[in-house]
Amino acid sequence: MKRPHFCFIGAGLLLLGALLGAQNAAPAAVKAVPVTGGLYLMEGLEGGNVSFLVTDEGVLVVDSGTTPEEGKRIVEEIAKVTDKLIRFLILTHYHGDHTFGLQAYPATTVIIAQQNTADNMRRLNEPRLRGMMEKQMPEMIAAQKLKVDTLRKKRAKDLKQEEERLKTLESEFAELQALRFVYPGVTFQTKLSVFLGGQEVEVVHLGRAHTDGDSLVHFPGLKVLHAGDLLFAGSYPYIGVEAGADTANWITALKVVSSWDVEKVIPGHGRLTDKPGLLKMAAYLSELREAVKGAIAAGKSLEEAKKMAPLPAWKGFERERLLPLNIEAVYKELKK
Ligand SMILES: [Zn+2]
Repeated sequence: MKRPHFCFIGAGLLLLGALLGAQNAAPAAVKAVPVTGGLYLMEGLEGGNVSFLVTDEGVLVVDSGTTPEEGKRIVEEIAKVTDKLIRFLILTHYHGDHTFGLQAYPATTVIIAQQNTADNMRRLNEPRLRGMMEKQMPEMIAAQKLKVDTLRKKRAKDLKQEEERLKTLESEFAELQALRFVYPGVTFQTKLSVFLGGQEVEVVHLGRAHTDGDSLVHFPGLKVLHAGDLLFAGSYPYIGVEAGADTANWITALKVVSSWDVEKVIPGHGRLTDKPGLLKMAAYLSELREAVKGAIAAGKSLEEAKKMAPLPAWKGFERERLLPLNIEAVYKELKK
C-alpha cells in the first residue's frame, strides 16, 4: 500500500495510522454531506469521521481530520457551506487520525477534550512523533540512501523501486516536520455543554472504553450522536490498550447511549448509522469477551488464542487484521 502523502502512515511506524487509514493511495475529495438540521458529515476522509454543526452564531466541529493537509481541506469545505466562524472543535479522543488536523483550524477556535485526552496527546502523541522526527525517520532515510547508493554501483534491477521509496520517505519526513502540536484549550472530566445558536451540544465521558478519554457528542435537539471510536461501523474496532481501553465498560457505555433519544449515529469510522449499529458493536465486544474467556478457561496461551477464527456473525467485517489485536487486548484485560 503506497501512501505518498502521509508520513506517519507511510513510515509504517504508527500502528494506528497504518491500521485505520484509508485504503486508497490518493486523497479523495472531501465533501460535506447534510445529516440533519445544520449538522453535516464529511465524506472522503482518510481516517476518523468529522462532523460539523452550522448555526447562526458559528460552527462547531467534531474531530479534526488525520493530517494537517486534510484539516485544511475540511476547513475549506466548511467555508463552502457557511461563512460563519469555526467557534468550537470537540475531540472525541487523542488518536492521530482524529487530532492531527488541528493546526489547520483558526487560532480562535476553542478546542475541547476530556482531560485524559489532553493528557494522552501530550504523553503519547507528542513524544512518539518527536522520536520519529528526530531519530527514526532520519535513520530510515540515511539507511535507504545507503541502499540506493549500493544498488546504483551494482546497477541492480531494483534500483528504481528503492529510489522511489527514498523519495516517499523524504516527502513523508517533510510532512512530519510540518506538524505542530496543538492542544485543547478547555478540558472537562465527565460532562460539558456547549451552547451555540440556540442549541445545546452535550459532550459526555462515560469512563474507559476505546481509550480512557473518550467523548460522546450528543446533539439532543437533532437526535444525533457522534460516537467517536466507541463505534466502528461495519468494521472490527481498534482497542486502545496503550491508553487504558476497557471493553467491559465500553459495552456498558454503548448500552447507556443506546437508551438516549437518538435516531442517527455518526461512528468514529464507517458510514452514518443508527441505534442498532451501536448495539451491534456492543454485541461484537460481548461475544469477543466470551470467546476469549473460553480460550483462557481451556488453558490456551495468548498466541493460541490469537489464531481464533472470526466469529461467524462478524465475517465480512472490514479490517480483519484487527481481530488478533482485539483478542490480545481482551485476553490481557481478562487476565488482569
Ligand atoms: Zn481511535
